[in-house]
Amino acid sequence: MPEKKIPERRCAGCMQSFPKASLIRITASEQGLVIDDQKAPGRGVYLCPRLECARLAEKKNAIARGLKRPVSREDMDRLMKMINEIDLNGDPDGGHADAK
Ligand SMILES: [Zn+2]
Repeated sequence: MPEKKIPERRCAGCMQSFPKASLIRITASEQGLVIDDQKAPGRGVYLCPRLECARLAEKKNAIARGLKRPVSREDMDRLMKMINEIDLNGDPDGGHADAK
């Protein structure tokens, strides 16, 4: 039987690859940036559900680049808030330690 490869995506913040399911996907909607449940078609940017990675991505302008659209300050603030909530509610062991 062929081995099943777990699809991996790269976080736009820390630039490390992780199984797709452990990342969140950011897409642009008419309401601004949303955290997508990986079903919406179109462009998406993957991030670890950690504020740290969102900040890194913001610094590098990686979300705007990945989505190929400008991201406003308000959009980014909203996204940070959403990720912050996931980060706080997340399983403390569920995240990945920084691979150093
Ligand atoms: Zn990351």
